[in-house]
Amino acid sequence: MPRLGVLGWPVAHSRSPAIHNAALAHLAMEGWRYQRLPVPPELFEATTRALGPAGFLGANVTIPHKHAALALADTASEAALEIGAANTLTFAADGKIAAENTDAPGLIAALGRSPRGMRALVLGAGGSARAAAWALREEGASEVLVWNRTPERAQALASDLGVRAVAAPEAADLLVNCTAVGLEPLERSATEPEALNQLGLVFDQVGEYSYVVDLVYSEGSTPLLAAARAQGVPTVDGLDVLVAQGALSFELWTGREPPIEVMRRAAREQDGSV
Ligand code: NAP
Repeated sequence: MPRLGVLGWPVAHSRSPAIHNAALAHLAMEGWRYQRLPVPPELFEATTRALGPAGFLGANVTIPHKHAALALADTASEAALEIGAANTLTFAADGKIAAENTDAPGLIAALGRSPRGMRALVLGAGGSARAAAWALREEGASEVLVWNRTPERAQALASDLGVRAVAAPEAADLLVNCTAVGLEPLERSATEPEALNQLGLVFDQVGEYSYVVDLVYSEGSTPLLAAARAQGVPTVDGLDVLVAQGALSFELWTGREPPIEVMRRAAREQDGSV
């Protein structure tokens, strides 16, 4: 029985099993199954190396294992190497493990338009910010700016990827939030102005971007997306990005065209958005 899964710690919240199992069912790929693989960091390498022999064809990788996934792979794509992280592993019959990063092309696919010529501001300096900055640079954004709460990390990212760190969020065409701010639903977290403040922004400023993307997915809207939508700014949410990166991983493992709409519906069914 071909098996797929998502490695993370914690991983209970992941919507990837719902997304992938819906695609497998839609394509009548009987016997295939995608499951959660909760693995703590100290067991990551041994567990991951055992997955191929146990019948796994591939695995997605999420927090906190994306760097470790790249480090243990036998081969890696140029994108994964330059970004410094992998979110997709493929287990070959000969025991070799290949690493890919579909977070980067997934962001571009979810955007639904080319960022060519756009000035883009990335908030954050963690793994997903690296993937976003790399993808926007590769796709021809006219300038990629990076702001982070801890400026030294933004500077390190900027010098690694040839983009520019900024001391405060600046005006741009495209804003991409790659921080964890907004993970909690509004009623359980900071108020909207407080959450925006954690991103170095105020409400009116959000209205000045042409497009706003929030990688965070939480029940309902995030504070950033709520502020953007209230001012008529087109938005892309974290579930669209999750589905887009998952669809690319699915195609890589199965060779089948991913049923994007089915996957999108499965992602949203979990929070009652459809
Ligand atoms: P990460 O490597 O842990 O980075 C976290 C980032 O968030 C850092 O830049 C950190 O700033 C910042 N941050 C955390 N708390 C903050 C706060 N209170 N105020 C301001 N900044 C704060 O995480 P990651 O892997 O890049 O993921 C970031 C977010 O994107 C997560 O919510 C994750 O779930 C989401 N994500 C979504 C997708 C998707 O497909 N939709 C894919 C990947 C990630 P410091 O450097 O100052 O600590």
